[in-house]
Amino acid sequence: MGNGGQDILIVIMAKKVAVLPGDGIGPEVVAEAVKVVSAATSEYSFEEALVGGAAYDATGVPLPKETLELCQSANAVLMGAVGGPKWDHIQPAELRPEIGALLALRRELGLYANVRPAKTMKALINASPLKGDHGMIDLCVVRELTGGIYFGEPRERRDNGNTAIDTCVYNRTEIERITLQAFEVARSRRKEVVSVDKANVLETSRLWREVVSELATKHPDVKVTHMLVDNCAMQLVRDPGQFDVILTENMFGDILSDEASMITGSLGLLPSASLGASKGDRPFGLYEPVHGSAPDIAGQGRANPIATILSAALMLRYTFNDHSTAQRIEDACEAALNEGFRTADIFEKDCNLVSTSKLGDAIVSKL
Ligand code: NAD
Repeated sequence: MGNGGQDILIVIMAKKVAVLPGDGIGPEVVAEAVKVVSAATSEYSFEEALVGGAAYDATGVPLPKETLELCQSANAVLMGAVGGPKWDHIQPAELRPEIGALLALRRELGLYANVRPAKTMKALINASPLKGDHGMIDLCVVRELTGGIYFGEPRERRDNGNTAIDTCVYNRTEIERITLQAFEVARSRRKEVVSVDKANVLETSRLWREVVSELATKHPDVKVTHMLVDNCAMQLVRDPGQFDVILTENMFGDILSDEASMITGSLGLLPSASLGASKGDRPFGLYEPVHGSAPDIAGQGRANPIATILSAALMLRYTFNDHSTAQRIEDACEAALNEGFRTADIFEKDCNLVSTSKLGDAIVSKL
């Protein structure tokens, strides 16, 4: 292209999202998320592939090669959910959707950080088990996903099966990368990280605290404190509003993220991100609702799409650094709820009961 003697090369960075609807309500909620993001911006391209039971039925495996290749070639993956009673008894178990698709995707894509924000929507404050303003939280658990006691060796039975052994292992590299990820998440929030461990008892926790403290001194823009896990479990009930980002290891994170989520009161509202190594300067991620495939309500238009829509907003924040569109989508969800639109799971008296796609439409109208 000539331009006064200078050639200008315009490079348009593709923002490609692999879309894996999956099983049960997965396709219904993912369709709404794609609808909302597409209404908010035209910057992203979406390409769909089979995963889970749907893929098993069509191809004989829950994670076909083409699906994995699509995910690997994309910047991010937006997933619904996999599994259901139809596939619970497949043998060998490695072909079941949860193991053969979900765990396999985490492993193949190197997703080592699980990020679970839990924010109470003002319109749904009555759903929180903690009453009044006490239940108003806006926190995020960053959990290490591939190390610790769930993966350490040896894991075995001895003594004729009467003694059981699990092993908790962490190394410096694993702790460093999750800590830096938590700092990055904190930078898009209130910049406060509470690192949770059991350093008064466990050697892995003492290393954890050592590494987090070292990194904290190198990243003074983030305020870092430490808390023992038993105290954290208690503080989440006593004063959950004190937390911004909770950084912790695999098993503690498994438990604390469920505890934190439930303070918001509804499973149909909770997004999650599983992040891996960066592609370019932003992390690759798989984004999905916390809930499962809800086979009991699949195909009825009763599923709440908000968790998946908020997962797509997380994708814009973390992988694409597009905070303004993410904020518009999050605000639109809240606005639709404030106006009284509800799916059955969060229905309250005097509200407007709508279907999955009608709630999606209401959110689009608020963008
Ligand atoms: P679930 O989250 O699917 O459902 C639990 C309850 O919550 C059900 O009553 C369901 O109707 C309701 N629910 C869930 N999401 C909802 C939504 N968006 N709107 C309204 N109501 C909603 O958990 P489950 O019943 O234990 O599991 C069902 C299947 O999902 C199982 O096969 C399980 O293995 C699988 N699962 C998959 C994932 C995943 O893909 N990441 C996660 C959890 C469970």
